[in-house]
Amino acid sequence: MILPVTNLISNRHFSMLPMDVYNFGPYENCVYVMYSNVKKVAVVIDAASGSFEGLKKCLIGHEIHLFLTHGHWDHMCEAAKFQRELKAVVYAHKADQDWFATTEQCKYAPSNISFETISPDIWVEHGQMIQWDDLVIKILHTPGHTPGQIALYVESLRSVFVGDTLFYRTVGRTDLPGGNFDQLKNSIRRILYALPEDTAVYPGHGEKTSIGAEQKHNPIVPLHENSL
Ligand SMILES: [Zn+2]
Ligand SMILES: [Zn+2]
Repeated sequence: MILPVTNLISNRHFSMLPMDVYNFGPYENCVYVMYSNVKKVAVVIDAASGSFEGLKKCLIGHEIHLFLTHGHWDHMCEAAKFQRELKAVVYAHKADQDWFATTEQCKYAPSNISFETISPDIWVEHGQMIQWDDLVIKILHTPGHTPGQIALYVESLRSVFVGDTLFYRTVGRTDLPGGNFDQLKNSIRRILYALPEDTAVYPGHGEKTSIGAEQKHNPIVPLHENSL
């Protein structure tokens, strides 16, 4: 059984907003939880395998808002449990609706994964701002890894949560259905690299990085095409 303490890999208390980083599931998905200071609001980013059991004790008593960065099973397989059992409001981009609504993608998942389809409560759009007290999230639509991939930009934390678009010194795969490398490159260059250089990048897997570091050192999508 997964206990939250064993999965909590980082507990960062910023000046205003607390944010915790967890790892769950066979692909070691990063799951992020932020809290607003005033009302008891918890924002959860992704619902990886094991995250429901791992997080529910911390989340009980909060109004829960769950954002799915995209529709791949490793990011959304337990979203329905959060929605049904913790009354979480689930947000996602409509372009990944087919992934959320079907069990077809179970063929990509290990057979012991508990997978449920999900009907998100709210379809988000590029540029949309969502606010609870001091916690403000801006939605960025960054297609390429999947058509409905989103990033969540939290300016007050100088942080962006990018799902599987951009990783430490690499980028998300585009060989799965709906993937498109040109779109991915455009999303990274025009949307993510347009953020301030000191913005921390929290990906869906692996270690964090920053916009400035990837602009300079990413070997697949550097800031300028001609620096390849
Ligand atoms: Zn993915
Ligand atoms: Zn993933």
